[in-house]
Amino acid sequence: MTEYALAVDLGGTKVEAALVDPAGRLLDGSRHRRPTGAASTSDRLATAVTDAVRDALAVLPVDATLLGAGIGSAGPIAGSTGNVSPLNLAAWRNYPLGALVAEQLPGLPVTLRMDGICIALAEVWIGAAQGESNVMGMIVSTGIGGGLILGGRMIAGPTGNAGHIGHVAVAGFDDPCACGARGCLEAIASGPRTVAWARDHGFSGETGEQLAAAAAAGDAIARAAVERSATAVGRAIASASALVDLDIVAIGGGFSHVSVDYIALVGTTVAHHSDFGFVTKTRVVASGLSGEGPLVGAAALVHRADLIG
Ligand SMILES: [Zn+2]
Repeated sequence: MTEYALAVDLGGTKVEAALVDPAGRLLDGSRHRRPTGAASTSDRLATAVTDAVRDALAVLPVDATLLGAGIGSAGPIAGSTGNVSPLNLAAWRNYPLGALVAEQLPGLPVTLRMDGICIALAEVWIGAAQGESNVMGMIVSTGIGGGLILGGRMIAGPTGNAGHIGHVAVAGFDDPCACGARGCLEAIASGPRTVAWARDHGFSGETGEQLAAAAAAGDAIARAAVERSATAVGRAIASASALVDLDIVAIGGGFSHVSVDYIALVGTTVAHHSDFGFVTKTRVVASGLSGEGPLVGAAALVHRADLIG
Protein backbone atom coordinates (compact mmCIF):
# COMPACT_ATOMS: atom_id res chain seq x y z
CA MET A 1 0.00 0.00 0.00
CA THR A 2 1.59 3.25 -1.14
CA GLU A 3 1.59 6.26 1.16
CA TYR A 4 1.25 9.53 -0.72
CA ALA A 5 1.77 13.16 0.23
CA LEU A 6 -0.34 15.87 -1.35
CA ALA A 7 2.16 18.46 -2.59
CA VAL A 8 1.09 22.04 -3.36
CA ASP A 9 3.33 24.73 -4.87
CA LEU A 10 2.04 28.31 -4.92
CA GLY A 11 3.84 30.76 -7.17
CA GLY A 12 3.29 34.13 -8.77
CA THR A 13 2.04 32.74 -12.07
CA LYS A 14 0.56 29.35 -11.14
CA VAL A 15 -0.39 26.95 -8.40
CA GLU A 16 0.31 23.24 -8.82
CA ALA A 17 -0.76 20.19 -6.86
CA ALA A 18 0.23 16.52 -7.15
CA LEU A 19 0.47 13.27 -5.22
CA VAL A 20 4.05 12.24 -4.39
CA ASP A 21 5.22 8.84 -3.18
CA PRO A 22 7.91 8.10 -0.54
CA ALA A 23 10.61 7.97 -3.24
CA GLY A 24 9.82 11.48 -4.46
CA ARG A 25 7.97 10.35 -7.57
CA LEU A 26 4.81 12.05 -8.79
CA LEU A 27 1.83 9.77 -9.32
CA ASP A 28 0.98 9.70 -13.02
CA GLY A 29 -1.99 11.90 -13.80
CA SER A 30 -2.01 13.62 -10.41
CA ARG A 31 -0.22 16.85 -11.38
CA HIS A 32 -2.66 19.70 -11.87
CA ARG A 33 -2.10 23.40 -12.40
CA ARG A 34 -4.16 26.59 -12.30
CA PRO A 35 -3.06 30.15 -13.10
CA THR A 36 -2.57 32.67 -10.29
CA GLY A 37 -1.11 36.04 -11.35
CA ALA A 38 -0.44 39.40 -9.78
CA ALA A 39 -3.85 40.80 -10.78
CA SER A 40 -5.89 37.91 -9.33
CA THR A 41 -8.45 38.61 -6.63
CA SER A 42 -8.35 36.71 -3.36
CA ASP A 43 -11.39 34.64 -4.37
CA ARG A 44 -9.82 33.69 -7.69
CA LEU A 45 -6.62 32.64 -6.00
CA ALA A 46 -8.55 30.52 -3.50
CA THR A 47 -10.51 28.85 -6.29
CA ALA A 48 -7.31 28.13 -8.20
CA VAL A 49 -5.81 26.40 -5.16
CA THR A 50 -8.90 24.39 -4.24
CA ASP A 51 -9.45 23.28 -7.86
CA ALA A 52 -5.85 22.10 -8.27
CA VAL A 53 -5.96 20.27 -4.92
CA ARG A 54 -9.32 18.65 -5.71
CA ASP A 55 -8.10 17.40 -9.08
CA ALA A 56 -4.91 15.96 -7.56
CA LEU A 57 -6.78 14.21 -4.74
CA ALA A 58 -9.28 12.76 -7.23
CA VAL A 59 -6.67 10.33 -8.59
CA LEU A 60 -5.62 8.93 -5.18
CA PRO A 61 -5.80 5.14 -5.68
CA VAL A 62 -8.46 3.42 -3.60
CA ASP A 63 -5.88 1.19 -1.93
CA ALA A 64 -3.46 4.06 -1.13
CA THR A 65 -3.01 6.11 2.03
CA LEU A 66 -2.85 9.91 2.12
CA LEU A 67 -0.41 11.00 4.84
CA GLY A 68 -1.06 14.75 4.72
CA ALA A 69 -0.16 17.83 2.72
CA GLY A 70 3.02 19.81 2.23
CA ILE A 71 2.75 23.31 0.78
CA GLY A 72 5.57 25.40 -0.64
CA SER A 73 4.63 29.07 -1.01
CA ALA A 74 6.24 32.11 -2.55
CA GLY A 75 7.42 34.34 0.27
CA PRO A 76 7.15 36.03 2.55
CA ILE A 77 5.19 33.67 4.81
CA ALA A 78 4.02 34.06 8.39
CA GLY A 79 6.02 31.58 10.44
CA SER A 80 4.53 28.10 10.78
CA THR A 81 0.94 29.38 10.94
CA GLY A 82 0.20 28.43 7.33
CA ASN A 83 -0.49 32.08 6.48
CA VAL A 84 1.19 33.70 3.48
CA SER A 85 1.89 37.17 2.00
CA PRO A 86 3.51 36.47 -1.38
CA LEU A 87 5.26 39.60 -2.70
CA ASN A 88 3.86 39.01 -6.21
CA LEU A 89 0.27 38.09 -5.19
CA ALA A 90 -0.96 41.37 -3.74
CA ALA A 91 -4.47 40.09 -2.95
CA TRP A 92 -3.09 37.75 -0.31
CA ARG A 93 -1.64 39.35 2.79
CA ASN A 94 -1.46 37.09 5.84
CA TYR A 95 -3.84 34.79 3.96
CA PRO A 96 -4.58 31.38 5.62
CA LEU A 97 -3.43 29.16 2.73
CA GLY A 98 -2.65 26.23 5.02
CA ALA A 99 -6.16 26.31 6.46
CA LEU A 100 -7.66 26.53 2.95
CA VAL A 101 -5.89 23.34 1.87
CA ALA A 102 -6.66 21.63 5.20
CA GLU A 103 -10.39 21.97 4.48
CA GLN A 104 -9.92 19.37 1.72
CA LEU A 105 -7.97 16.94 3.94
CA PRO A 106 -10.03 16.67 7.13
CA GLY A 107 -8.04 15.25 10.03
CA LEU A 108 -4.71 15.14 8.21
CA PRO A 109 -1.63 17.27 8.96
CA VAL A 110 -0.80 20.21 6.68
CA THR A 111 2.67 21.77 6.72
CA LEU A 112 3.51 25.01 4.88
CA ARG A 113 6.97 26.46 4.33
CA MET A 114 8.60 28.94 1.97
CA ASP A 115 9.16 27.58 -1.55
CA GLY A 116 12.91 28.18 -1.38
CA ILE A 117 13.19 25.94 1.66
CA CYS A 118 11.22 23.27 -0.18
CA ILE A 119 13.72 23.43 -3.06
CA ALA A 120 16.59 22.92 -0.63
CA LEU A 121 14.78 19.91 0.87
CA ALA A 122 14.23 18.46 -2.61
CA GLU A 123 17.92 18.87 -3.54
CA VAL A 124 18.93 16.94 -0.40
CA TRP A 125 16.20 14.32 -0.86
CA ILE A 126 16.60 13.36 -4.54
CA GLY A 127 18.61 16.18 -6.16
CA ALA A 128 22.18 17.45 -6.44
CA ALA A 129 22.84 17.68 -2.68
CA GLN A 130 22.09 14.11 -1.61
CA GLY A 131 24.23 13.13 1.37
CA GLU A 132 25.10 16.78 2.10
CA SER A 133 24.39 18.53 5.41
CA ASN A 134 25.18 22.21 4.74
CA VAL A 135 23.27 23.21 1.65
CA MET A 136 21.61 26.14 -0.03
CA GLY A 137 19.06 25.44 -2.76
CA MET A 138 18.52 28.36 -5.11
CA ILE A 139 16.17 29.32 -7.93
CA VAL A 140 17.26 31.98 -10.44
CA SER A 141 14.25 32.78 -12.57
CA THR A 142 11.66 35.58 -12.67
CA GLY A 143 12.68 36.08 -9.06
CA ILE A 144 15.51 34.64 -6.98
CA GLY A 145 14.71 32.36 -4.07
CA GLY A 146 16.57 30.09 -1.74
CA GLY A 147 16.52 27.91 1.32
CA LEU A 148 19.03 26.53 3.80
CA ILE A 149 19.80 23.13 5.27
CA LEU A 150 22.44 23.42 8.01
CA GLY A 151 23.70 20.53 10.09
CA GLY A 152 21.24 18.33 8.20
CA ARG A 153 18.24 20.38 9.32
CA MET A 154 16.03 22.86 7.53
CA ILE A 155 16.52 26.44 8.75
CA ALA A 156 13.22 28.32 8.66
CA GLY A 157 13.74 31.05 11.25
CA PRO A 158 11.09 32.47 13.60
CA THR A 159 9.03 33.93 10.74
CA GLY A 160 9.70 31.11 8.26
CA ASN A 161 11.61 33.35 5.89
CA ALA A 162 15.25 32.39 6.47
CA GLY A 163 17.10 31.76 3.24
CA HIS A 164 15.69 34.73 1.29
CA ILE A 165 18.94 35.03 -0.69
CA GLY A 166 17.14 37.14 -3.33
CA HIS A 167 16.93 39.99 -0.83
CA VAL A 168 20.51 39.92 0.35
CA ALA A 169 22.33 43.11 -0.66
CA VAL A 170 25.26 42.63 -3.04
CA ALA A 171 28.28 44.93 -2.85
CA GLY A 172 28.81 47.20 -5.86
CA PHE A 173 25.16 47.40 -6.92
CA ASP A 174 22.37 49.85 -6.15
CA ASP A 175 19.40 48.57 -8.16
CA PRO A 176 16.01 49.34 -6.53
CA CYS A 177 14.09 46.24 -5.40
CA ALA A 178 10.35 45.55 -5.17
CA CYS A 179 10.84 44.84 -1.46
CA GLY A 180 11.72 48.48 -0.83
CA ALA A 181 15.47 48.01 -0.40
CA ARG A 182 18.28 48.67 -2.88
CA GLY A 183 20.98 46.42 -4.23
CA CYS A 184 19.10 43.16 -3.57
CA LEU A 185 20.33 40.14 -5.53
CA GLU A 186 16.89 39.66 -7.11
CA ALA A 187 16.86 43.28 -8.33
CA ILE A 188 20.25 42.79 -9.99
CA ALA A 189 20.36 39.26 -11.30
CA SER A 190 16.87 37.87 -11.97
CA GLY A 191 15.94 37.09 -15.57
CA PRO A 192 13.75 40.17 -16.13
CA ARG A 193 16.20 42.52 -14.40
CA THR A 194 19.12 41.14 -16.39
CA VAL A 195 17.23 41.63 -19.65
CA ALA A 196 16.33 45.16 -18.52
CA TRP A 197 19.99 45.93 -17.82
CA ALA A 198 20.95 44.67 -21.28
CA ARG A 199 18.23 46.80 -22.90
CA ASP A 200 19.52 49.86 -21.03
CA HIS A 201 22.87 49.15 -22.69
CA GLY A 202 21.56 48.72 -26.24
CA PHE A 203 20.22 45.15 -26.41
CA SER A 204 17.00 45.09 -28.44
CA GLY A 205 15.52 41.76 -27.30
CA GLU A 206 12.82 41.42 -24.66
CA THR A 207 13.03 37.93 -23.18
CA GLY A 208 15.50 35.74 -21.37
CA GLU A 209 15.43 33.35 -24.31
CA GLN A 210 16.41 36.15 -26.68
CA LEU A 211 19.18 37.20 -24.31
CA ALA A 212 20.45 33.61 -24.17
CA ALA A 213 20.47 33.34 -27.97
CA ALA A 214 22.27 36.66 -28.39
CA ALA A 215 24.89 35.80 -25.78
CA ALA A 216 25.50 32.43 -27.44
CA ALA A 217 25.91 34.20 -30.79
CA GLY A 218 28.60 36.49 -29.41
CA ASP A 219 26.63 39.66 -28.66
CA ALA A 220 28.92 41.54 -26.26
CA ILE A 221 26.15 43.31 -24.36
CA ALA A 222 24.13 40.14 -23.88
CA ARG A 223 27.23 38.34 -22.69
CA ALA A 224 28.04 41.16 -20.28
CA ALA A 225 24.51 40.94 -18.89
CA VAL A 226 24.85 37.20 -18.31
CA GLU A 227 28.20 37.70 -16.58
CA ARG A 228 26.78 40.53 -14.45
CA SER A 229 24.00 38.26 -13.22
CA ALA A 230 26.32 35.35 -12.50
CA THR A 231 28.80 37.59 -10.71
CA ALA A 232 26.10 39.01 -8.45
CA VAL A 233 24.79 35.51 -7.66
CA GLY A 234 28.32 34.38 -6.85
CA ARG A 235 28.97 37.33 -4.54
CA ALA A 236 25.72 36.68 -2.70
CA ILE A 237 26.62 33.00 -2.29
CA ALA A 238 30.08 33.91 -1.00
CA SER A 239 28.55 36.28 1.56
CA ALA A 240 26.05 33.61 2.59
CA SER A 241 28.86 31.11 3.00
CA ALA A 242 30.87 33.57 5.07
CA LEU A 243 27.87 33.71 7.40
CA VAL A 244 26.78 30.07 7.60
CA ASP A 245 29.67 27.99 6.13
CA LEU A 246 27.98 26.26 3.19
CA ASP A 247 29.41 23.14 1.55
CA ILE A 248 27.29 23.18 -1.59
CA VAL A 249 24.84 25.42 -3.42
CA ALA A 250 22.52 23.89 -6.03
CA ILE A 251 21.09 26.37 -8.52
CA GLY A 252 18.02 25.79 -10.65
CA GLY A 253 15.37 27.95 -12.32
CA GLY A 254 14.88 28.93 -15.94
CA PHE A 255 17.41 31.76 -16.02
CA SER A 256 20.19 29.50 -14.70
CA HIS A 257 20.13 27.99 -18.21
CA VAL A 258 20.68 31.37 -19.92
CA SER A 259 24.20 30.25 -20.80
CA VAL A 260 25.86 26.84 -20.77
CA ASP A 261 28.56 28.22 -18.49
CA TYR A 262 26.28 30.19 -16.12
CA ILE A 263 26.78 27.82 -13.18
CA ALA A 264 30.53 27.75 -13.83
CA LEU A 265 30.63 31.58 -13.87
CA VAL A 266 28.91 31.65 -10.50
CA GLY A 267 31.31 29.03 -9.15
CA THR A 268 34.36 30.95 -10.39
CA THR A 269 33.13 34.10 -8.65
CA VAL A 270 32.79 32.19 -5.38
CA ALA A 271 36.16 30.49 -5.80
CA HIS A 272 37.95 33.84 -6.21
CA HIS A 273 35.86 35.91 -3.81
CA SER A 274 38.27 36.20 -0.91
CA ASP A 275 41.26 34.63 0.83
CA PHE A 276 39.00 32.66 3.17
CA GLY A 277 39.09 28.99 2.30
CA PHE A 278 35.86 28.35 4.18
CA VAL A 279 34.15 30.71 1.73
CA THR A 280 35.87 29.69 -1.49
CA LYS A 281 35.45 25.97 -0.82
CA THR A 282 31.71 26.26 -1.40
CA ARG A 283 30.79 24.13 -4.41
CA VAL A 284 28.30 25.57 -6.89
CA VAL A 285 26.40 22.97 -8.93
CA ALA A 286 23.39 22.82 -11.20
CA SER A 287 20.16 21.67 -9.65
CA GLY A 288 19.55 17.94 -9.79
CA LEU A 289 15.82 18.49 -9.95
CA SER A 290 13.45 18.49 -12.90
CA GLY A 291 10.53 20.85 -13.30
CA GLU A 292 8.86 18.73 -10.62
CA GLY A 293 11.32 20.07 -8.01
CA PRO A 294 8.97 22.50 -6.24
CA LEU A 295 6.34 19.77 -5.85
CA VAL A 296 8.94 17.24 -4.67
CA GLY A 297 10.11 19.80 -2.13
CA ALA A 298 6.60 20.41 -0.86
CA ALA A 299 6.17 16.64 -0.51
CA ALA A 300 9.44 16.49 1.46
CA LEU A 301 7.64 18.40 4.21
CA VAL A 302 5.63 15.18 4.68
CA HIS A 303 7.98 12.39 3.61
CA ARG A 304 11.24 13.86 4.98
CA ALA A 305 10.14 15.14 8.37
CA ASP A 306 13.63 14.11 9.59
CA LEU A 307 15.05 17.15 7.76
CA ILE A 308 12.55 19.52 9.31
CA GLY A 309 13.38 18.88 12.96
ZN1 LIG B 1 14.70 43.10 -2.10
